[in-house]
Amino acid sequence: MALIPYPEALRRVEARLGRTDEVEVPIADCVGLVTTADIVSPDAVPPFDNTAVDGFAVRSADLVEVPAILEVVETIAAGSVPAVTLSEGTCARIMTGALIPPGADAVVMVEQTRSAEDDAVYIDTSAAPGAHIRPAGDDLAAGDLAIGRATRLRPAHVGLLATLGITHVRVARRPRVGVLSTGDELVGPDTPLSPGQIRDSNRQMLLALCDRIGVEAVDLGLIGDDESAIEAALTNAALRCDAVITSGGVSMGDYDYVKAVLGRIAEMEWMQVAIKPAKPFAFGTIGDTPVFGLPGNPVSSLVSFELFAHPGLRVMMGDPDPHTPQLTARTGNDMRRRSDGKTHYVRVTLATGADGVLEARSTGAQGSHQLAASAGADALAVLPDGEGLPSGSQVSVVPIG
Ligand code: AMP
Ligand code: MG
Repeated sequence: MALIPYPEALRRVEARLGRTDEVEVPIADCVGLVTTADIVSPDAVPPFDNTAVDGFAVRSADLVEVPAILEVVETIAAGSVPAVTLSEGTCARIMTGALIPPGADAVVMVEQTRSAEDDAVYIDTSAAPGAHIRPAGDDLAAGDLAIGRATRLRPAHVGLLATLGITHVRVARRPRVGVLSTGDELVGPDTPLSPGQIRDSNRQMLLALCDRIGVEAVDLGLIGDDESAIEAALTNAALRCDAVITSGGVSMGDYDYVKAVLGRIAEMEWMQVAIKPAKPFAFGTIGDTPVFGLPGNPVSSLVSFELFAHPGLRVMMGDPDPHTPQLTARTGNDMRRRSDGKTHYVRVTLATGADGVLEARSTGAQGSHQLAASAGADALAVLPDGEGLPSGSQVSVVPIG
């Protein structure tokens, strides 16, 4: 079977994924979710003309000749309502964010004034009409589009929604993503190891990866290499979840039952993808539920999650731009490889070099079973097929942190 280039493999996966349904969530719970409708500003922002600085609200006509001395008729704090209309020769002390009093058309910064006898102030500078005034609607007018549909919400959007008095927002629901691992050799983290056993690292790691990208992770446990147990687990998972992630059991071994079961109960997309690590990878749907069959080796599981499940789940979350943008970096060490028809994803740390250029350094051992070295990786450096790159070369990196 010919190896499929990664972009083509990802396209085939994404083509089979649909968005979750629309729900309304409180704004405290919306970061990372994607809007399903336009959000229009109900009011002007800011809602009233206000001062951008601490100083004096003035009539610009009083400051044609400076220094000028003006009578201070009131002090206006942010949140209070001015009581006096300014008349010729008067001003009001005013604090940042406070309403501009009627009669005033400019603000002079406190730094450009000096106090005078009694309730008066010297103003040392003239002011153009509108100076230091933030007019109502300067940020948004009532009826303006505040946040478009298909926007992935960030913390600053939460602030904007709060500004608008919007407490709930319509978004694509967080997919429920079931994670299960398979393998007779696996035991839980608190179990002493008997000969031949290892601890199940992938399930904890994949649950944590799911958490980080903002899906609802569901722990479906550890299943032995037992065909009927795997079939029952997958069938049940497909009913309960919007997507299922498995690890192990999809390669060519005698006990790789995940592959066998999926071959029977799922519409599969068997792909030999031209990447290393993260082969083998299986993708299919049980009913409408997508299943990402990730490889068992922990580093392969990690990398295939980032390359397939992460963008796939973002598609399900309605993200119109589900792919992590690649950055350009300089290799901080030799990254040699052999030509094998595959793109290699080398786990690297990222740091800014003395000259300000982003530098990628290999995290060390790159075996697909060597999770210790990959655990601290910030990114995957993309080494195209060939002999690799010497230190100091330009390289594309996919951030994973
Ligand atoms: P498999 O794809 O099931 O043949 O597994 C490939 C390798 O990954 C074997 O060495 C397994 O022991 C190991 N492996 C599979 N699943 C896990 C897991 N959940 N945690 C740690 N290692 C695993
Ligand atoms: Mg196995």
